[in-house]
Amino acid sequence: KERQRLDRVLAHMGLGTRKEIKRLLKEKRVRVNGEPAGDPGLYVLPGRDRLEVDGKPVEYRRYIYLMLNKPQGVLSATEDKLAKVVVDLLPPEYRAFHPFPVGRLDRDAEGLLLLTNDGKLAHRLLSPKKHVPRTYFAVVSGRVTEADAGAFRRGVTLNDGYLTMPGELKILHSGPESEVELTIYEGKYHQVKRMFEALGKKVTYLKRIAIGPLVLDETLKPGEYRELKEKEINALL
Ligand code: URA
Repeated sequence: KERQRLDRVLAHMGLGTRKEIKRLLKEKRVRVNGEPAGDPGLYVLPGRDRLEVDGKPVEYRRYIYLMLNKPQGVLSATEDKLAKVVVDLLPPEYRAFHPFPVGRLDRDAEGLLLLTNDGKLAHRLLSPKKHVPRTYFAVVSGRVTEADAGAFRRGVTLNDGYLTMPGELKILHSGPESEVELTIYEGKYHQVKRMFEALGKKVTYLKRIAIGPLVLDETLKPGEYRELKEKEINALL
């Protein structure tokens, strides 16, 4: 292991931007092995030297796992020339970990988006071979019927000829505007919208509520996020 500058190590621990960390040091809120530290250029050995901020030990960590309730109008990406992207919703101390969205939600869709810098986990969740279930709530214009639920159970042929895997469609309310909950086991481009299109109906609101064992925390308003709990991370690993 190599010695590194204290400010760099603290940034990697997610304690803020360089500027914010400089202030922490200036305000003498950081201790190294029990001694107050004020020099951002002090060399420390991550994992060996004991670091504290405001009297609390800080642990070196590599991965970050966030759930975001993606609001409408924001792109599921890390950067874009024009559009606002989901990473823009995070504070610098989280952005410092370079998280990226695991899978995509359409710009006009809402709900559960997992953001992490754990590439292995992302790969496993997105692998077409794993058939990780994704559950959505949708508002659909048109009367959704048991015949549609049957079509979901058999798989739906999309406009490009692709036959989807069987899914589940639960009708919560059937009317001129219907409300449904559905689960699919793959993630083709615009899949939910295209499945309903194939049945002659239009999705007017789409919200993801679960990916595999991970369920959207309903206390998060659109645009809000929180770190996953240890239990939630373990369920995904
Ligand atoms: N299916 C869609 O059509 N859009 C999404 O954002 C996700 C699934």
